[in-house]
Amino acid sequence: MQEDRRFVRPRKQLVELLRKKGIEDERVLRAIGKIPRHKLIDTALYPRAYKDTALPIGMGQTISQPFTVAAQTELLAVEQGDKILEIGTGSGYQCMILCELGAEVYSVERHKELYHRAKESLQDLGYKAMLKVGDGTLGWSAYAPYDGIVVTAGAPVVPDDLVQQLSIGGRLVIPVGDENRQAMHRITRVSENEYDREEMADFKFVPLIGEKGWGDK
Ligand code: SAM
Repeated sequence: MQEDRRFVRPRKQLVELLRKKGIEDERVLRAIGKIPRHKLIDTALYPRAYKDTALPIGMGQTISQPFTVAAQTELLAVEQGDKILEIGTGSGYQCMILCELGAEVYSVERHKELYHRAKESLQDLGYKAMLKVGDGTLGWSAYAPYDGIVVTAGAPVVPDDLVQQLSIGGRLVIPVGDENRQAMHRITRVSENEYDREEMADFKFVPLIGEKGWGDK
């Protein structure tokens, strides 16, 4: 892949900023330092491609803020070969980070247009992930159980189907709260019927719409 020199420095600066903000997992930082985020957004947004901000990707949706992506990925504690389900494919950026960490990636998106675009971007940039259009609040039972599930939209409650689709030892990272603010939750399945729950800092996500999410307006 031909590197566009214009973006090399801003991408390095983004990695340094994330390090300063507390991201410690070097594998995550390396992935962010490698993936051409500018290729997933409109050319008019190129000057902001490597700023630590969410950016529009159409359909009223966003590519998440890099800090948020890094923080969620760190919480997922991905190991090489882990089977990971993402809810909310969006641009495909989070999928690419997970691929860089050596995960087997599955991702569900409710907007067909975004699904098609993400599929094309992943292919163009040489990443492999299984994508589908659907209601991610129900998970993707055909490939369960997962070592990790990451939800990239804000949920009103933790959807039970997602918890059920975790393997023993599996982690679910999900922002839960009202429409303005969500706390990041990590739920670890410690045995068949036991879960360990942790609650972390506040974030702001677009809403998770679906049967076990917010209603469609
Ligand atoms: N992970 C994405 C990325 O790396 O670009 C960012 C995702 S954006 C913040 C949240 C995404 O979740 C949107 O694309 C939205 O359409 C999707 N979404 C919302 N509710 C969903 C649901 N029930 N099932 C699947 N996708 C959903």
